[in-house]
Amino acid sequence: MTGLAYLAREAAGCTKCALSARRTQVVFGVGDPDADLLFVGEAPGRDEDLQGEPFVGRSGKLLDRLMAEELGIDRRQCYIANVVKCRPPDNRNPRPEEIEACRPYLVSQLDLIQPVVVVTLGNFATKLLLETDNGITQVRGKAYPFGRSYLVPTYHPAAALRSGGAVVAQMRSDLVRAKQLLGWS
Ligand code: URA
Ligand code: SF4
Repeated sequence: MTGLAYLAREAAGCTKCALSARRTQVVFGVGDPDADLLFVGEAPGRDEDLQGEPFVGRSGKLLDRLMAEELGIDRRQCYIANVVKCRPPDNRNPRPEEIEACRPYLVSQLDLIQPVVVVTLGNFATKLLLETDNGITQVRGKAYPFGRSYLVPTYHPAAALRSGGAVVAQMRSDLVRAKQLLGWS
């Protein structure tokens, strides 16, 4: 078993925070364990909680489309994870103590996968990994050194679905930046 599969099995029974009480299942992550590109979202929603896979609902459809159109890949060619692995009730924001409890899983995913580029989707992933209090609107538009990798912050696809074309266009340009750093363009 790979390190990632071992970690996923361990996480499947996790009760380290209160989100364990109402989840259907832990949504650990999906994709290539050797991926050069890793996306980090916020938390599973209803569809993800039911299917056990990140970004399979409406936000995920947009993410899949942007991935295909800007990077020429599908989700099996990258890795997708979330800040917290269990669905917050009624899709409320994850709480600081939940993010803290779940953080070691994300840190291990980063250590095991060693991506070249991490794309954070929205405020929760960006603030956690960039260790900033600044919002996504302020910090997006460039790449940041992130250990031996780069971090490219962008909007959460749910924000793009709410706000429309201008936000989608900015997400596209952030993905182009990621593509350049990956040497894919
Ligand atoms: N939103 C997220 O942040 N993550 C998912 O997996 C689905 C929706
Ligand atoms: Fe464990 Fe993370 Fe789920 Fe909390 S959200 S129970 S820390 S896997």
